[in-house]
Amino acid sequence: MLNLSRLSSSAMPAVGVPTIAVSGSEARFPVRRIYCVGQNYAEHAREMGSDSSRKPPFFFGKPADAVVDSGARLVYPCRTAELHHEVELVLALGGGGFNVTLAEAPGLIYGWSVGLDLTRRDLQAEAKKLGRPWDMAKGFDASAPVGPLRRGVPPAEARIQLRIDGRVRQTGDVADMIWSVPEIIAELSTYLTLAPGDLIFTGTPAGVGPILRGETVTGSIDGVDSVEVSFDPS
Ligand code: MN
Repeated sequence: MLNLSRLSSSAMPAVGVPTIAVSGSEARFPVRRIYCVGQNYAEHAREMGSDSSRKPPFFFGKPADAVVDSGARLVYPCRTAELHHEVELVLALGGGGFNVTLAEAPGLIYGWSVGLDLTRRDLQAEAKKLGRPWDMAKGFDASAPVGPLRRGVPPAEARIQLRIDGRVRQTGDVADMIWSVPEIIAELSTYLTLAPGDLIFTGTPAGVGPILRGETVTGSIDGVDSVEVSFDPS
């Protein structure tokens, strides 16, 4: 255990910057912040008990060091009996700005990938009921597996899918997002200044559900390398 009282002010250890893989490259993309969009596919909004009409997107976050590479083996998270999968298109920003316009938004994108917004659904349900923050439901250790980034802007249409042990659990198309990629970037940039290194998880299609111990979860979007993580059996 780190004992801060024993450190002089000049001896604080440097903290490493979390990174994610870039497809076909040795380079790693340094992660500054992780933002996530809630309920951005109509069918998923309905399955979560919300009305699916077009309302401005809402956002939440995860700590940058929640990222995990594809291929990781993970411990089943603590403090939950209901870990859920959400497969999502992930944007990686190479540029930034405040009050970015729709026309400027695509120019901020360094690359894209597929990620898993792992969620302690039981804690989220309790937080919603009590009007409490979602942080402990969404921002836990290893809660953001991301596949290798592909350079460029994501396709407007592409199949997005999640499989557990090979069986399809979620399927949709990124064309069905309620808020498009430029709209998400523009709207988010009215709340705060976006910067290089920011990741944006853009919401999940219908079919979210539990992950059990021992299972392997694979997220895919046509046109990019998939993300796959396995959970310890115990
Ligand atoms: Mn999500």
